[in-house]
Amino acid sequence: MVAEKLDVVVVGGGFAGVYMLHKLRGLGLEAKVLEAGSGIGGTWFWNRYPGARCDIESMEYSYQFSEELQQEWEWTERYATQPEILNYVNHVADRFNLRDGVILNTRVESAHFDEATSRWSVITSTGDVFAARYVVMATGCLSSANLPQFDGLDQFEGDWYHTGNWPHEAIDFSGKRVAVIGTGSSAIQSIPLIAAQADQLTVFQRSPNFSIPARNQPLDPEQVRERKANYPAFRAANKTTAFHANFGYNEANAVDVTAEEREREYEARWTHGGLPFMAAFADLLFDTEANETAADFIRGKIGEIIDDPELAALLSPTSVVGCKRLCVDTNYYATFNRDNVSLVDVSDNPVESITATGLRTEQSSYEFDVIVFATGFDAMTGALMKIDIQGIGGQALQDAWAEGPKTYLGLAISGFPNLFTVTGPGSPSVLTNMLPSIEHHVDWIADCIAYVDQKGLTQINAKPEAQEAWVEHVNEVGDESLYPRCNSWYLGSNIPGKPRVFMPYLGFPPYAEKCREVADSGYEGFALRS
Ligand code: NAP
Repeated sequence: MVAEKLDVVVVGGGFAGVYMLHKLRGLGLEAKVLEAGSGIGGTWFWNRYPGARCDIESMEYSYQFSEELQQEWEWTERYATQPEILNYVNHVADRFNLRDGVILNTRVESAHFDEATSRWSVITSTGDVFAARYVVMATGCLSSANLPQFDGLDQFEGDWYHTGNWPHEAIDFSGKRVAVIGTGSSAIQSIPLIAAQADQLTVFQRSPNFSIPARNQPLDPEQVRERKANYPAFRAANKTTAFHANFGYNEANAVDVTAEEREREYEARWTHGGLPFMAAFADLLFDTEANETAADFIRGKIGEIIDDPELAALLSPTSVVGCKRLCVDTNYYATFNRDNVSLVDVSDNPVESITATGLRTEQSSYEFDVIVFATGFDAMTGALMKIDIQGIGGQALQDAWAEGPKTYLGLAISGFPNLFTVTGPGSPSVLTNMLPSIEHHVDWIADCIAYVDQKGLTQINAKPEAQEAWVEHVNEVGDESLYPRCNSWYLGSNIPGKPRVFMPYLGFPPYAEKCREVADSGYEGFALRS
């Protein structure tokens, strides 16, 4: 097969891949996006489960690279639904004439670097071969679904689904006995809707999660007008915050104020709804005592909502608030007051196997027509590790990352020249508002490629010592927080055998500053070759 020569192969047609293509075309480069799905949209293409909706407000979870685009697009709700976000990304592809640069139904199987030609040979599931000067991995942080290896799944006579790979047609749960395994964000969003339809719903909970009401509502036209009048300034202000979002950060520490002041602040944020709850006090993710005040507050709310005190106790986490991604819900806890909903605690009584008619835990058997696996993702590294990526000297990424991912700025990997990762491990990514962070990365990568090309160079490769120093810094910053204290997908601890490493970088502003310094200094920390 003759390889098609390209300047850039972009792997993945989600929000990152779509914008990357637009930027590369702006530089006059020949680029193609290779996308495994039958449509663009990434996360918002695959996660079609009932209730799927963003936990960042729609007017912030949107591109800002085009003022015209952000002025003309009309979001309808405070938090956009999955179908609305999917419409939006499709609109962007049409508006900027990007469709002809995306090859759908095409999974990248391997990418090998050839030192002699400084090109990546990219081979796809359809047998196509591309020889590209650069590769951009826009493969997403939460795109590799985790289906635990339960024995017997192939024997199950009912239907089963994973929230992260949901069918395109609507699923009717009416009259069905349904199991949901998992109680993370995907479960918490889908459970109230499944419960409203199903005959019976049984939720299998290994660890309870903290969830804050979304308080979703239609957008107020007056507020939309005001925001649009100042959109660039609003976006610029968000860039100065840790989460890259308008959370109304309170700089006071929880431990420095009175119990009454804490209660007032938590109550106001509970009423406001959503993730800004975590910005109630500056020390919540750094001080156990402070965190415990927030945990107590949420547990109090769960106790008020749930009628049965034993059930309320089961649904109340004892872990650190925010240590796992905080959930945002509509009627999650209240759903457990319904007569057709029951909760099974599998913390000491694990799901052992799937049977022909249901599932078996260590202690009991259950019968179901439908099983929903809301069991999450092999986060941040899963999608990359599934591809056979080989850098200089045939070194496999799987080997380079055997003890955990190592990157320079979450953007480049030493020994893998001319390959970039959008929102890779070591970048703030999942600890921020993903969309503006994606834009930041794509802009940086495009500038970097333009620089290398303008200088007539052929290779840019992160230096091992710069990568080591960055990895150490990411760990040091992470260790100052409470994040490493629990088992979360941030640490890879949801996947058996995955090395326990805190993967994201905490704090957007210092990260953006470092990225700017590196670029301004002529790509300090990178080896450049002619
Ligand atoms: P998740 O947070 O990783 O939750 C997976 C759930 O499955 C956990 O409750 C986990 O229990 C459980 N589980 C996994 N294996 C199990 C097993 N063998 N037996 C019993 N339970 C098992 O995954 P997710 O809910 O899909 O969410 C992942 C991330 O996607 C979120 O944190 C968020 O960043 C993003 N997301 C966002 C939204 C939104 O914007 N609103 C919606 C959905 C997802 P343990 O906790 O004990 O491991």
